[in-house]
Amino acid sequence: MKPLIVANWKMNPTTLAEAKRLSDLIKKGIKRIRNVEVVICPPFIYLATSDKRQATKIKLGAQDCFWEEKGAFTGGISPKMLKNLGCEYVILGHSERRRYFSETDEMINKKIKVALKAKLKPIFCIGETEEERNREEAQNVLKIQIKKGLAKISKKEIKNLIFAYEPVWAIGTSNPCDQSTAQTMSLLIKKIISQLYNRNIARNTRVLYGGSVNSENARNYIKEARMDGLLVGGASLDAQEFIKIIETVSP
Ligand code: PEP
Repeated sequence: MKPLIVANWKMNPTTLAEAKRLSDLIKKGIKRIRNVEVVICPPFIYLATSDKRQATKIKLGAQDCFWEEKGAFTGGISPKMLKNLGCEYVILGHSERRRYFSETDEMINKKIKVALKAKLKPIFCIGETEEERNREEAQNVLKIQIKKGLAKISKKEIKNLIFAYEPVWAIGTSNPCDQSTAQTMSLLIKKIISQLYNRNIARNTRVLYGGSVNSENARNYIKEARMDGLLVGGASLDAQEFIKIIETVSP
């Protein structure tokens, strides 16, 4: 499987002109790189302006969606709308949404269900806080997040879902998770999937790592820790740095 490198721009940049420039620079910079799947997840308002002709090289993702298809939900964006704009992926359950928008595992489960129904591929973020890790609860936290997040999701549907292991203490902190811990957590995720579904599904499930990834540490997560890809926040806003990350993970 090709490594999957996902840019999470979060609430950046401030203008459409900057968003276009950043995406153009990335497109140009990765033209010759082969065998890496690249996804950019800009804020909703920039999605509509993306050049769909480039869709084969850089794929488009959203950073969230609502759990209803349409209707009186002021401010909401539905998976169908995203699909219609050319999105293939949607990040769900990001720790910043859990924290600042009070998203619960139950809400995330509803979002995953409708996203899958709309044929989007959810990038389901899970991960423990620093306190939970210090209390040695990290593995249990992951188990609960996975079980609740995937409630009533079938074997057929789960095949289109990707996990992102994102320890909360490593996000935006310049304190990345060490590779062996990332690998342990990735194996745990696959073990849980094997128990909930089956071994074959677990083997084919992609698990990304996210948390202070940069061009120095990116390669080791893929080559040493055998993660299936990376979710990149801060470093994806610097075109040259993001291009370098993609270059270093290219087989
Ligand atoms: C993220 O937002 O998912 C993330 C991993 O951020 P950063 O790379 O900045 O730590």
